[in-house]
Amino acid sequence: MSVEPCHVCAADALVEVAAYGAQQRVTSDCRPWRQGGRLAVCRACSTVQKVISPEWCEEADAIYAGYQLYAQSATGAEQYSFDPSSGFGQPRSTTILEAVAGHFDKTREARFLDLGCGVGVTLRSVHALAPSWRLEGYDPNIKDRASLEAISGVVGVHDGALEGLTAGFDVISCFHVLEHIVSPRETLKKARDLLSERGVLIVQVPYFHDNAFDLTIADHCSHFTPDTLAALAASAGLEARLLSVSVVRREITLVAAKAEIRHLAPPDFQAEFDLVTEALSWLADVVETAKSVSHAKPLGIFGSSIAGVMAGAALDGAFDFFIDEDPTRVGAHHMGKPILSPREVPAEASILVPLMPSIGLAVAGRLAGPLRTVVTTPRWREGAVG
Ligand SMILES: [Zn+2]
Repeated sequence: MSVEPCHVCAADALVEVAAYGAQQRVTSDCRPWRQGGRLAVCRACSTVQKVISPEWCEEADAIYAGYQLYAQSATGAEQYSFDPSSGFGQPRSTTILEAVAGHFDKTREARFLDLGCGVGVTLRSVHALAPSWRLEGYDPNIKDRASLEAISGVVGVHDGALEGLTAGFDVISCFHVLEHIVSPRETLKKARDLLSERGVLIVQVPYFHDNAFDLTIADHCSHFTPDTLAALAASAGLEARLLSVSVVRREITLVAAKAEIRHLAPPDFQAEFDLVTEALSWLADVVETAKSVSHAKPLGIFGSSIAGVMAGAALDGAFDFFIDEDPTRVGAHHMGKPILSPREVPAEASILVPLMPSIGLAVAGRLAGPLRTVVTTPRWREGAVG
C-alpha cells in the first residue's frame, strides 16, 4: 500500500504496479522523458493512476515549463484524427464536435466554454461549426491572450479561479484535460456548476485499454476507462448521456448533463490491475522489438507522436527518421530526426511500426516493399476488456 491517497476518490487504497519503475516514459507533448515513475490502481474506485507524490508534482511542473504542443507539426497545427478506411483527416476537436452534435442545437444562439483552451484549436473548430455561438476560453496558463481573443466568436478569455466565471454555459468542452488534473472530481463539479440547466459537458480522454502507450505519458495522472470515468462524473453530479470509445479511436468520449450526485459501483479492481500488468509487459515487448532492429540502416520509425517517441527514446536515438502520414508534420524535425512522408522513405529502409496492432498491421501493409523490412508490435487484446 502506498502512503498517498487516490486522487480520484480520496481513499487510502492505492496498489502500486511495480513494473512501472522501469518504464521508458514520454511527455504528453511527445518528448522523451526519463524512465521510472509510480503507477497504481485504486482498490476502492479501480482508477488506474500515477501516484501523486511530491516527485510527480515536480516532474509535471518541469514538463509543463517546457511544453510545446504540436511541436512536430511544421505549422503548430492540432493533431489530426484519421478515418481508418478513407484516410481522411481533420482536426480532432472537429471530429468530436460533429459526432456529438445531436446533444446540442448548433443553429441557436448559445454560450460555449472550452476548459483548457490552450492555443485555441477547439474554439476555432466550434466557431466553424456554430458561427452564432458566443465562445469563451479558460486556461490556467494562457500564453497568448491576444491571439485567443482574435478568434472569431470569442467573447471572453479567462484564467485564475474557474468558479469566478459567470455560469450558464450551454456547452462546455474539456478535451484532453481531465487526465492531467490531480483533483478531477473538484474540476468536474466546478464545470457542472457552470452549466445552464439543460447544458452539456463534453469530456474527451485517452483510453489505455485500446492504447497502452497512454500509460507511458509521465504527466497523465489518471488513466480512465468508460466505467471509471462515468463513476467519477456521477460522483460530481453529472449523468452520462453518451459514453463511447468509437467517436475517436483509442479515446473515450463522454457527454454529460447535470444530475444528482450518485455513487456508481466501481469496475472490478483485479481485472483492471491484471490488464495494467499485461499492458506494461506488452510495452516491454515493444521496447525489445525496437531494439531487435536497431542495427538496421537506414531505420525509420512510423509515427512521431507518443508511441514513436517512446520507441525512439528506447533506442537512445539510434534511428534515422520518423515517418508520418499527417501532412502537417512532414518536413519538420523531431528528436533531431526528419519527419518523412511514406512516399519519401528509401526503398531499402527498415521500418519500425510501434503502434497498437489493430492499426499497425494495416500501416505495415501500406509500407511494405520488396527491399523493406517492416516490423510491427506483438499482439494485444485491444477492445477485449472494458
Ligand atoms: Zn480511488
